[in-house]
Amino acid sequence: MRIRNFALDLRQPLTTATGDIERREGFLVAVDVDGHTGIGEATPLPGWTESLDDCRAALDGVDHPKTAIETDALADTPAARHAVSLALADARARRDDTPLAASFASNPHTSLPVNSTVGDAPVEQTVEAAENAVSAGFDCLKLKVGARDTGADITRLRAVREAVGDDVSIRADANGAWDRWTADRVLAAISDLDLEYVEQPLPAEELAGHAVLRRRHDTPIALDESLASVPPVRALASNAADVLVCKPMALGGPDRVLDVASRARNAGVDIVVTTTIDAVVARLGALHVAAALPGERAHGLATASLLDSDVAADPAPVRDGKMSVPESPGLGIDPDAVLD
Ligand SMILES: [Mg+2]
Repeated sequence: MRIRNFALDLRQPLTTATGDIERREGFLVAVDVDGHTGIGEATPLPGWTESLDDCRAALDGVDHPKTAIETDALADTPAARHAVSLALADARARRDDTPLAASFASNPHTSLPVNSTVGDAPVEQTVEAAENAVSAGFDCLKLKVGARDTGADITRLRAVREAVGDDVSIRADANGAWDRWTADRVLAAISDLDLEYVEQPLPAEELAGHAVLRRRHDTPIALDESLASVPPVRALASNAADVLVCKPMALGGPDRVLDVASRARNAGVDIVVTTTIDAVVARLGALHVAAALPGERAHGLATASLLDSDVAADPAPVRDGKMSVPESPGLGIDPDAVLD
């Protein structure tokens, strides 16, 4: 297995609950299957995966990629597992001369809607950002909430709904900022706004609290950060979510997401796939996984624009709020273009 490291600066530092992110560092790996090369990417993210050093050590310890996946030797290093699993899937799809999405499912989507993220800002800027996204073709907005007082967030959500009309889907992502009482109050106050869902209103461990919110309110509940601390099967068993936000990098690879998705389907729960602000290889992996899932939800894949540069040209840029799934074999990217 060949391993190459990379580092990409963000255009602007991104403030998250676990600190500012200024650059994304990780590893590209190449594996061979029956004479066909496949590529994968490991881009660890603090709070979601192992550290960069642990990721490198795990990748260095892989002698036989196929065996490493089959024996679950990389279970504790999801970013490393993601790279190896994706590279194997890419190599096999290239060998079989089929796009990756078509190797995952029989009738994959050829194009997917993606959401535009609207960051925390005062109401006027929030409305302006939302209107700009809709003008650019997005029909799904994800508003960051939870950073200011709840009255201000409720005003922002209401103003955006009034500005963009009823045809645009609106999600609110609180990143676990609220306690049960606060979440209860906000959900009651926005019940008429027809939000697609509120994502992670409560802290990650609060599965029971999310289940209570689901029972008490009509607005659907999505879990994101919870999946970094509890296994997805537990989240499903707790009836804590209408939607699971799945990050292939954090779950350990495309195969893991497909497994969660089939369990979720049996529980009547939808999946939204998102990146962890990855380079083009992992973004394409997430796109192919999302394309293999049923349903029409928008996914959180429009993150290329956050990066100042990339490891190779992007064959699936966002256009009109959508991404087209590459039709060439595998991921749709030439391994040599990435590895040189
Ligand atoms: Mg989220």
